[in-house]
Amino acid sequence: MIFVARTKIPVSLAGIQAATTVPMIICHSVLQTFGYDLAITSITDGHKQGVGGLHPWGFGCDFQPAKWHAPPLDSVYFHPRDLADGKKIRDALKAALFLECDLVLERTHYHLEVDVKKKFS
Ligand SMILES: [Zn+2]
Repeated sequence: MIFVARTKIPVSLAGIQAATTVPMIICHSVLQTFGYDLAITSITDGHKQGVGGLHPWGFGCDFQPAKWHAPPLDSVYFHPRDLADGKKIRDALKAALFLECDLVLERTHYHLEVDVKKKFS
């Protein structure tokens, strides 16, 4: 399941680009093979232009591996660097994504960025 994390700054999809959504679905499928759900922790929210890579333009997304629990139970979130297979998941995510996508293992989450202007030779 893909779901929106309940964070201090509410996650907003205002301005999200269509090109960002397909990679998010792919990332979800990859996480499912490791037994996790995908919790979106940031899209365009909380990022000013020049900060947060391509987030302000709708081409960025942060997410964490998670276990979804319907309310009133709390969902469980995992910092990827705390997971024994955090780097293995990163490599699997990268292998499944488009060439225009950058996937970075950050301290508390995975950062996904889509650069549609990227040139390939
Ligand atoms: Zn990010």
